[in-house]
Amino acid sequence: MSNKYDYLLEVKNLKQYFNIPNGLFGSKQLKAVDDVSFAIKEGETLGLVGESGCGKTTVGRSILHLYKPTSGEVYYKNELISGRKSINNFRKNVQMVFQDPYSSLDPRMTVADIVGEPLDIHKLYANKAERQEKIKELLYTVGLTSDHATRYAHEFSGGQRQRIGIARALAVNPNCIICDEPVSALDVSIQAQIINMFEELQDKMGLTYLFIAHDLLVVKHISDRIAVMYLGHIVEMGPANEIYNHPAHPYSISLLSAVPVPDPDYARNHKRIVLEGDVPSPLNMPSGCPFRTRCPRATAECAEAMPQLKEVAPDHFAACIHL
Ligand code: SF4
Repeated sequence: MSNKYDYLLEVKNLKQYFNIPNGLFGSKQLKAVDDVSFAIKEGETLGLVGESGCGKTTVGRSILHLYKPTSGEVYYKNELISGRKSINNFRKNVQMVFQDPYSSLDPRMTVADIVGEPLDIHKLYANKAERQEKIKELLYTVGLTSDHATRYAHEFSGGQRQRIGIARALAVNPNCIICDEPVSALDVSIQAQIINMFEELQDKMGLTYLFIAHDLLVVKHISDRIAVMYLGHIVEMGPANEIYNHPAHPYSISLLSAVPVPDPDYARNHKRIVLEGDVPSPLNMPSGCPFRTRCPRATAECAEAMPQLKEVAPDHFAACIHL
């Protein structure tokens, strides 16, 4: 049976501005997310990448209305998310796994209570025995055992804590998970295990992911499509292989040039591009293209207007006036 919707999750013209105190009585507007749009099909993974401070975590939080968006819309199965009831229902279907497994789990709660809390909130069991059984199943799903249930989060390694966080997210049987840099705080050897687990869970449960990361190698592995963010804007978006093999935007090209490649011929022919200068403050955005202060291809025209995303190859979009 075909779905009545093309996309499970759709974000349209999302803006998230914060007022930051400036001087004694004034304030300045920080445009953390500025006119971001994308859509994710059911069962698909969209990787959202960019340097820290580019607004990618704010996108995840604004989608869940953890911050009330300044403007723009979020649709779930074609329905606009608006109002308390629809937000609560949306948060049951779309869960979040947080970056830091050390601070996102309450140290005073046992693993059973951490994983059981969403079951309690959404009243997802008939009696105590069923609650315990569900917790046991969830722990098993993420590679832990029922022996772990009575222990506290601080007794676990970073990778195990992230497994507990994932079990908590799975407790409400969501369709979609926003994974906010879920492996950045983990050792490289553990990162691969957790990424593999996300992929296995997706195969088994048909999950849809928005996978946020600053590391392009991490998202390459798991994503069907990738969106690259810079200073609150999506500057390039397309199929993962296309972005890797034919990046179009100068920023994506520089990000990719920094990814280590285990092929000496490739490394000889592809020089690393080191970007000049720092990322500008989002409180002091450059005029025109947000990347122009660091772009090796910038010209005077780049200061004139914000480049819009345009299709540079089938389903591959980039925002640069020189493409
Ligand atoms: Fe660089 Fe200009 Fe393109 Fe922006 S519009 S990415 S500054 S060339």
